[in-house]
Amino acid sequence: MRYSTFLEVNLGLLQDNITKIKRLTKAKLLPMVKADAYGNGLVPVSKFLVEDCEIKTLGCASLGEAVHLFSECPDLSAEVLVFSDNEISNPEVSEAYANFAITPVLHRPSDLETVLTNPAFSKLPIVLKVNTGMNRLGLNLEELSAYAPRLKNRGIKHLLTHFARSSDLLKDGDKTHRQMEEFAQAKKILKDAGVEVKETSVSNSGAIEQKFGLEETYVRPGLMLYGPYSVESRLWDGHQISRFVTKVLKTFTVKKGTPVGYGVNVAPDDGFIAVVPVGYADLSLTHISGADITVNGHKGKIFARVSMDVMFLMFETSVVGKIKEGDTVEIWNNDNRVICGLAESMKTIPYQLMCGVTKRIPRIYKVK
Ligand SMILES: *Cc1c(COP(=O)(O)O)cnc(C)c1O
Repeated sequence: MRYSTFLEVNLGLLQDNITKIKRLTKAKLLPMVKADAYGNGLVPVSKFLVEDCEIKTLGCASLGEAVHLFSECPDLSAEVLVFSDNEISNPEVSEAYANFAITPVLHRPSDLETVLTNPAFSKLPIVLKVNTGMNRLGLNLEELSAYAPRLKNRGIKHLLTHFARSSDLLKDGDKTHRQMEEFAQAKKILKDAGVEVKETSVSNSGAIEQKFGLEETYVRPGLMLYGPYSVESRLWDGHQISRFVTKVLKTFTVKKGTPVGYGVNVAPDDGFIAVVPVGYADLSLTHISGADITVNGHKGKIFARVSMDVMFLMFETSVVGKIKEGDTVEIWNNDNRVICGLAESMKTIPYQLMCGVTKRIPRIYKVK
């Protein structure tokens, strides 16, 4: 239990973000709730999306995440897709597909082989990912052509692909456009083979922000739902739904040359330090030292080595008296520019920051 260090997750702001996305597109929303809903909490976020935001389909990464969700919420009236670690050829766990409203995204030829030949999967809707140039998961066009004749009877419920560079500002003929052309070829291969495709999706946050791929059946927002923007120019001005709150544990002044913390770090100048009870066991990231954190309007820098339970914020000596023990510190707040700036100064991406908030930080839920 912690008392004044917590991650406040505001579900009302999540609802606002959903409303904003719905204004951008007529496509249905398939929110991604993998990785504990990007650190915000799989169960409360999923429940809220389904019960209060009219969401009917959710996306997890692994079968275990989907099973966990249904074991916590047996009455959840949604379908959950498993996008990567589908366990389809693991007989010990793949039976979960028969017991719950969980559908695997088939992304390897071996997945299709299993589903087309194992009678246990004869009723499973076919959700198929094609590789259009990201070269991670998905069948390439040759593999798709080879399987097309065997898909004719069953048809495809949902055909999808994933973009590698949708957070780059779009330009004619760029990677994202080329991937979209390849996706059109995939559709044509299936059409020519007489395979019916009922639904499609391509766009993650970066593409949605740029209004790209919105004519498909679904869009698959992840990051933007929770707040951060993907495209540098902040096309997306949604709310950061979480606020990471802690407090000043102790303050002291240092003279130039004073050693601080583990190892050999010394104050480069005279300064003023606030110790904060967030360490690497709370925020699990590598390049956190040097990043900017603002307290009471004064900009400080994470200084010296981050310990397991605490870190140091270094301020100029002019700040003495303006920050004191017990003052609130927001590592980030509901303005999405703060977490995006912090991620940049930590040489990482907001995804990793949100996923880096460990279990030691309690999540506190609030609806506005
Ligand atoms: C994670 C993921 C998304 C969401 O991506 P964001 O960049 O977070 O919006 C969409 N589709 C697939 C297949 C994913 O794995």
